[in-house]
Amino acid sequence: MKKIAILGSTGSIGTQTLEVVRENGDIEVTALAAGSNIALLEQQIREFSPKLAAVWSEEKALELKEKVRDLDVKVLSGMDGLLETAVQPDAEILVTAIVGMIGILPTIEAIKAKKDIALANKETLVTAGHIIMPLAKEYGSAILPVDSEHSAIFQSLQGGQRKALHKILLTASGGSFRGKTREELENIQVEDALKHPNWEMGRKITIDSSTMVNKGLEVIEAKWLFDVSADQVEVVVQPQSIIHSMVEYEDGAIIAELGTPDMKLPIQYALYYPERRYLPGDRLDFSSLSQITFEKPDMDTFYGLKLAFEAGRRGGSLPTVLNAANEKAVAMFLDRKIRYLQIPEIIGTCMEHHKIIENPSVEEILNTEQETYEFIKNRW
Ligand code: NDP
Repeated sequence: MKKIAILGSTGSIGTQTLEVVRENGDIEVTALAAGSNIALLEQQIREFSPKLAAVWSEEKALELKEKVRDLDVKVLSGMDGLLETAVQPDAEILVTAIVGMIGILPTIEAIKAKKDIALANKETLVTAGHIIMPLAKEYGSAILPVDSEHSAIFQSLQGGQRKALHKILLTASGGSFRGKTREELENIQVEDALKHPNWEMGRKITIDSSTMVNKGLEVIEAKWLFDVSADQVEVVVQPQSIIHSMVEYEDGAIIAELGTPDMKLPIQYALYYPERRYLPGDRLDFSSLSQITFEKPDMDTFYGLKLAFEAGRRGGSLPTVLNAANEKAVAMFLDRKIRYLQIPEIIGTCMEHHKIIENPSVEEILNTEQETYEFIKNRW
């Protein structure tokens, strides 16, 4: 029986991970951590019987403790709770389905405890890839991508020699506003940006898809996961989201992974790798599929993607600024405090004002995050 712990069990990836667990019936969940949704966390505890549950807010953790008094589960709060979830002794795999850089420290501790990481929390690799990847190598932990594009690349890499990899073709749906001009994006409202054409996701990542900053974060994530330069990653817009990404080998051969858009496939692949299992759901039907089309990304209109390439090339603490500025700007947009087009504008200004730290430590990364937040607070 496989044993897993999940950071962010109440979110989009967290709940889909638990669906995969439920459908397979042979995975034990040893620990669950969430931010504040204790109603759902209680249901999950009752269904999956973890030994440990963690809630970020201390007050909510006390409330949860009271609700599950009849069960044999330890309830913790704050960073201690996340760290204990990450190193829960019985778990072999930690699923990092939490949002933001808060995932860095738990991921590091899980690697040191020799857990494999099923990684959805891309912010951890974007900002601390230079720490995470060598550490995983040192401790023998596998970093198994959950992001659908990275899972597709990982799957495509099973088809050739790693040393013959020439480049990565990272596909993008282009988001809800593909084909629109800057003028047309002027008056975009929160409700418009929260609609994704193909994938059901959390709120923040749905906005990030619409601005293409998500694709930019994925470029940096790919750079670390597959040990390539940002320039070896080419973004290919493929609006139907059928090709989930591809790799090109030295001889020109391209290997891709295709399928219907369903996050449970990459989640299940990461949990059982290298085994493939039956997964209920729709299959691609080529007889009814009329077309798969391709476009170049419009990096002038969606210049958050251009900024991400710049951050990925330059490295150091710049990707942290990109990520933190984006996080804050998206939150401000969702609170209706800024306009849609201010999201990339804020990111660009923050990147311009930042003095890059080479090879930042975790402390420097977290300080850079705070400094970026402060800068935004004082300026907007
Ligand atoms: P959601 O917003 O849906 O879920 C986030 C989860 O993290 C929730 O369980 C939330 O708890 C929890 N959380 C947030 N803050 C804390 C905290 N301080 N302590 C403990 N738990 C916390 O996000 P997604 O599932 O969409 O995304 C998760 C990660 O996966 C992100 O990094 C995203 O970029 C990545 N990803 C997501 C994809 C998707 O399809 N959704 C695809 C590929 C990658 P609560 O709800 O209780 O507050």
